[in-house]
Amino acid sequence: MLASSEKSVRSSQLLNKPEILSVKDLSASLDGNEILRRINFSLKEGEVLALFGPNGVGKSTLLRVLMGIGPYKVGGEVLFKGRDLLQLPPFERAKLGLGLAFQGLPKFKGLRLITVAEEIARRFNQPKERIRELASQLGIENLLEREVGRGFSGGQVKRAELMLTLLQDPDLAMIDEPDSGVDLDGIKVIGKVLNDFLQRNEPQPKRKKSAIVITHNGAILEWLKADMGMVIINGVSLCYQNPVYILDMISSKGYEECLRCLNN
Ligand code: ADP
Ligand code: MG
Repeated sequence: MLASSEKSVRSSQLLNKPEILSVKDLSASLDGNEILRRINFSLKEGEVLALFGPNGVGKSTLLRVLMGIGPYKVGGEVLFKGRDLLQLPPFERAKLGLGLAFQGLPKFKGLRLITVAEEIARRFNQPKERIRELASQLGIENLLEREVGRGFSGGQVKRAELMLTLLQDPDLAMIDEPDSGVDLDGIKVIGKVLNDFLQRNEPQPKRKKSAIVITHNGAILEWLKADMGMVIINGVSLCYQNPVYILDMISSKGYEECLRCLNN
């Protein structure tokens, strides 16, 4: 365990920025089983948080709960741009600037990807050209006329899902495992698109977009440099730390070591 002086804290540039999300004692249960017990963290404007944790620990559930979807009984408090998020239906949350790229993409017979993309662009006041721009950046222009999800490879699923999410122009993009089941070239492409969207080439004071990125293996962090990292284990958020440090720790010692890092 690191001494407190070695622990990473937010850069002073981030400390000076407004908070976009604040999560306090968030819990989620299903049929009496607690999936999330005590999740606490906050996110600043322009900040990228990498979220780690073993399989089945509730990472995707956290994103779904924040988006307002799923059958969960939810407790705690979440403020997004100062609004009480948990009181809002999912579409209102999306309109406020919250976007979720799921781990997968549903399959729809007879519904073309371009049709869905155009509807999202219309609802979120994005120019139609933005569809082609994102599709081109993601290398999936050839998928636009295809039926949503049908016969897509693992990498194509991720790219299409990311395109639809970024088309909403969210201020907080929640991206569920963009690097799972994707080859190295694909991860590079997705990473570059996220970097671009999240204004990572601008100095921190200019960045307005924030993100929570779940990563199982950390591969996406080669391309998208997260500001902070956090681990979920046993339904509790812990190890609020430098993401590179967390990844090194998990790789060398496994998640057991995170339990020693109850610094939250
Ligand atoms: P992770 O993304 O960390 O791998 P998940 O959030 O997908 O984990 O799932 C956490 C646990 O909650 C798992 O045991 C999963 O089966 C359960 N779970 C989550 N959502 C549902 C649901 N809608 N119905 C049944 N079980 C669920
Ligand atoms: Mg998951």
